[in-house]
Amino acid sequence: MELMEIFRISFKELEENPSLARKLLLGLWFQRLTQMQTPCADREVDSMTKLIFDWIFARRPLTREAAERLLQQQPDADDFERLLILTWAGKPSRPITKRQAAIEALFRREYLQKSWMEVTRRVCPCGNSHTQERVLLHCRPVLQAEVRHLRRLLRDCKIERLLPL
Ligand SMILES: [Zn+2]
Repeated sequence: MELMEIFRISFKELEENPSLARKLLLGLWFQRLTQMQTPCADREVDSMTKLIFDWIFARRPLTREAAERLLQQQPDADDFERLLILTWAGKPSRPITKRQAAIEALFRREYLQKSWMEVTRRVCPCGNSHTQERVLLHCRPVLQAEVRHLRRLLRDCKIERLLPL
């Protein structure tokens, strides 16, 4: 069964590869973008910008020089890719792996209905061995807090229904 038509990702693929959640979220973002009416509220634009740059395409910050080098190495980059690379440059550091884990956790919960224990063990990036105690006392609450941030942002973006097209 297709989970999302535009990317042709199945439930089974998502189950085996949690990182596909980012692609699904990108699909929802584009879907929402096409529905936005003009003029739209500043807050909505801010939220959509935040979701795409700070969550979906979040990455470690580049120095300005590294960004210039990256651009030179990719002469075929289109305007959007160039903008992305420049946006990455000179940004303050932020906990990117936590955000990626939150996206994966949310989709694992929503689409695959996995328990928080399963979800945490599968996507938590902490690198420690996930004993029940560690999951319950540390990893799960950290992950749940980050998922709450993501949910709030999705609500602001009006991407509440995490459902296929
Ligand atoms: Zn952990």
